[in-house]
This record gives sequence, structure tokens and C-alpha cells, in this order.
Amino acid sequence: MELWFTEQHTDNVTFSIKVDRQVYSGQSEFQRIDLFDSLEFGRFLTLDGYMMLTEKDEFIYHEMIVHVPMNVLPDVKNVLVIGGGDGGAVRELVRYPSIEKIDLVEIDAKVIEVCKKYLPQTACKLDDPRVSIHYADGLKFVRSKKNEYDLIIVDSTDPFGPGEGLFTKEFYGNCFKALTEKGAMVNQHESPFYPKDAVAMQRAHKRIIDSFPISRVYQAHIPTYPSGHWLFGFASKNYHPIENFDAVAWKKRELKTNYYNDKIHVGAFALPNYVKELLEEV
Ligand code: SAM
Repeated sequence: MELWFTEQHTDNVTFSIKVDRQVYSGQSEFQRIDLFDSLEFGRFLTLDGYMMLTEKDEFIYHEMIVHVPMNVLPDVKNVLVIGGGDGGAVRELVRYPSIEKIDLVEIDAKVIEVCKKYLPQTACKLDDPRVSIHYADGLKFVRSKKNEYDLIIVDSTDPFGPGEGLFTKEFYGNCFKALTEKGAMVNQHESPFYPKDAVAMQRAHKRIIDSFPISRVYQAHIPTYPSGHWLFGFASKNYHPIENFDAVAWKKRELKTNYYNDKIHVGAFALPNYVKELLEEV
């Protein structure tokens, strides 16, 4: 009998991956956690039935959420990752020797436990000595922080369930306060493609532009996310993601990447007209 994982992307669209076997299934205090093996995408993680990452395409998301801000901001030392319990963002961050401290704030300890056991491709650097893991709600964690982080990466689930608070005005305002003067926040900014997703994306975008003086959106192609067209938000106090991009420093680092490069960095901020219109409407 064939086994398929199917995610409902809209009332009229589903996305399916043929599954070889189910590796893990469990219910945590916050969500249902499943891991499957597939031939096309390798092992993949879902939370409450929503795709989080696959071994085959996770590099796109994790490289774009980390290398874009890391090559704009100078001398990043303290980083806060909110969500990101799979460890993919941390794996990319620890490649930068300038970083002294990474606080990873994940609400669900079970996600980290399961990813360490079954997803070593992403979780491989969670034991790096610079990483401190906090099992907490990111919304509450940032409330008490002031002028502490050079970079905040919001690697959250979607704007419902445990992730809902990470798309609020209160949260973005507290992230602004938690950042140093050279600081920036990058978040997964959802998809612009299907109308229901676009409305949620616009709502969050409006809150970010109301909270930060500099705010730009960039994009990547992520095959296993709804529509494949995914956005990221870059919001900062002083640094502009293109004007302050240091391509020379990036090349000198000699980091091997599969998606990110200097041309992609600049090109990712060139948005299709329909996305520009959605962002201007807010
Ligand atoms: N790349 C993924 C995506 O966009 O689908 C996100 C991956 S990561 C697994 C998302 C993590 O955010 C989950 O492990 C979830 O438990 C965590 N999370 C959700 N809400 C949170 C909150 N309020 N505070 C901290 N972590 C949260």
C-alpha cells in the first residue's frame, strides 16, 4: 500500500509527497510532531501536519535566513534565534567565528529532542559551546531584553498555534528594544502567493514597518512550502540590507553554500510586481 503525506495548501490545493516510512510520531505539550522518510525529499519534519523542513531543500531556507543578515551587519557577536528547534539556523550561524553567543529560544523541548535524534543534518551544531538553549515562549523571552542582541532570527512556525505571538506588534516592538544599535531582525515572512497566506503576510509586514525604521522583504524559492514562493523580512535600526551588504567580506570568508551567493543576496530583494503591490497596500 502506498503511503503519502498530504498538506492542504488552500481549500482547493493539496501538496503530497510519497512516503517511504514513518520514522517518528508523537504529541508534545504544544503540537504533534512527525518525521517521515521519502525518496524525493529525504527525511522530513512536520508539526501539526505542516511541513517544517526536508533534508533536500532545507539549505535554501536556512542559508537565506542566516547569511543575508550576517553579511550586512558588521561584527555580529550576540544572536538570538526564536523557534528554530531543528537547529538549521544555528548550524549556519556557528560558521561565523565572530559570533560569541547564540541564545536559541524554542518553546517545545520535544522538537529539539526529536531533531537531535532523527535529523542530525540540521541539529548537528546544537551542542556548540556558544549555543545556549532556552525552553521558553519567544514572545515572553524578549520582553525583558534590552540592547542585547546584534541579530534576532525569528525562525517560527506560522501565525497560528504556538507561533501566533511571534507575529504581533508587541513582539516586534520588544525585538526592536532587544537589539543593539547595529542590530537587525530577520523573520520568515510567509508566502505572498495564495490570498489567505498573503493577508496574514501583509498583516505581519505592517506591524514590522511600524516598529522599525528600515524594513525590506526578500524572497527565495522553497519547493516544499505552500506555492514554493517564500518571503523573509529584514528589519533594522540602521543597516540597509543592500547598501550595507559587504560582498568583499563574504567572499573572503570562503564559506561553501548551496544557494546563497553575492548575486543572490542583492537579487533576492528584487520583488515581483504583485508582491510589491501587496507590500505597498499595507
Ligand atoms: N522553517 C520552518 C518553517 O517555516 O516552517 C520553521 C522551523 S522551526 C521547526 C519552528 C519552531 O518554532 C518549532 O519548533 C516551534 O516549536 C517553534 N515555536 C513556535 N512558536 C514558538 C514560540 N512562541 N516561541 C518559541 N518557539 C516557538
